[in-house]
Amino acid sequence: MLSTKTFVRIQKEAENILGDGAAVIFYEAGKKAVQVSVKRIEEEWKLEGIELVRCLEEFYAEVGFGRFTIGEAKAEGELVIKVENSFIAREYGKSDVPVCHFLRGYCAGIGERFSGREMDAEELKCVACGDEHCEFLVKTVE
Ligand SMILES: [Zn+2]
Repeated sequence: MLSTKTFVRIQKEAENILGDGAAVIFYEAGKKAVQVSVKRIEEEWKLEGIELVRCLEEFYAEVGFGRFTIGEAKAEGELVIKVENSFIAREYGKSDVPVCHFLRGYCAGIGERFSGREMDAEELKCVACGDEHCEFLVKTVE
């Protein structure tokens, strides 16, 4: 496993070289990575629905990604996911813009898994910007 420090160093290098494009790469990588872990938990532990959600939350906290709170799905096809102690924001330092692109991809992937539809995620709050926790709005792609 990559250390948090190394991960964030790679992200900052990518941002220096690629600018805004770096965010897209980390977002897409997160979206793919989460599908792998969700599938593994489903198959190994035979969980679904709310049990799967709680298990994912525990799993990500345990691996040190942060404490996820996956909110109830809203009627309009929106989902709010709160992440406390994001490993990216923790290491990144201060920023004018949200920095947890990899976890944003995770949130979109989680939304897609539970809705069965294509979803996108936006980071509304980020610890790197001075917020108390990171918060993601996951929405159906129109
Ligand atoms: Zn963040």
